[in-house]
Amino acid sequence: KFGGHAKPQSQPMNPAGVDRILVVGSGKGGVGKSTVSANLAVALARAGRRVGLLDADIYGPSQPRMMGINKRPASPDGKTIIPLQAHGVTLMSIGFMLEEGKAAVWRGPMLMGAMQQMMTQVEWGELDVLIIDLPPGTGDVQLTLGQKAELTGALIVSTPQDVALLDARKAIDMFQTLKVPILGMIENMSTYICPTCGTEAHLFGHGGVAAEAEKLGVPLLAALPIDLDTRLSGDAGTPIAAGDGPVAQGFAQLADRLIK
Ligand code: ADP
Repeated sequence: KFGGHAKPQSQPMNPAGVDRILVVGSGKGGVGKSTVSANLAVALARAGRRVGLLDADIYGPSQPRMMGINKRPASPDGKTIIPLQAHGVTLMSIGFMLEEGKAAVWRGPMLMGAMQQMMTQVEWGELDVLIIDLPPGTGDVQLTLGQKAELTGALIVSTPQDVALLDARKAIDMFQTLKVPILGMIENMSTYICPTCGTEAHLFGHGGVAAEAEKLGVPLLAALPIDLDTRLSGDAGTPIAAGDGPVAQGFAQLADRLIK
């Protein structure tokens, strides 16, 4: 159980059959938030959990590509939306509702409407956990969710680079203001191991996220290497957590840690 959290039902945006909602946020874009969301969802599904993944990244919905499925979900009555299924995960993405290559130019109220729809009109069914892949930063989607849904907790993804950490700190501050528990930080792209000579390099620095997590008093939940196969499998629509290598094991451990 996620810290013995009670079933969140008190807020209008909480889907009825969903036990826990985990949001995955970051300060900056491109740090691996969607990669972590997809792989964590797959790892939780492999551990036997009933998992939903909601891609709420309005600026760049990546889950249709990363989960290998991109079609408009059915809506038999024009109201409820039937989510898709991929790699054992129940999936909904704002990208399914948008035309590919078109930007989502939405004001706050429209965004709130879209979030409300994806939370409550999607037939999520009974889920142990719903993972929400947030847009980067501290915008309207985060605010709406923080205020209108009861969230079990937030995971913050960052690279060890100072500029990424600076913004990660702001994201953490926002969740704390919204009284969303910070479950921990995840360091991504921490080390790189040269495939030919095996030398380890720290392209974005080293130890920054661990130090920040300690300073903020939140756990460092995982440190993921820069890894070609992680990128390739994401692009190919089969998250690396669906396989059996060391990165998949890392995500299995992360899933385990969060489920306790
Ligand atoms: P965000 O959601 O924070 O914008 P993404 O998950 O979309 O970031 O990642 C950005 C790019 O970096 C993607 O092409 C992804 O495949 C790649 N990527 C993310 N994490 C890793 C990693 N650990 N190793 C290699 N490539 C990665």
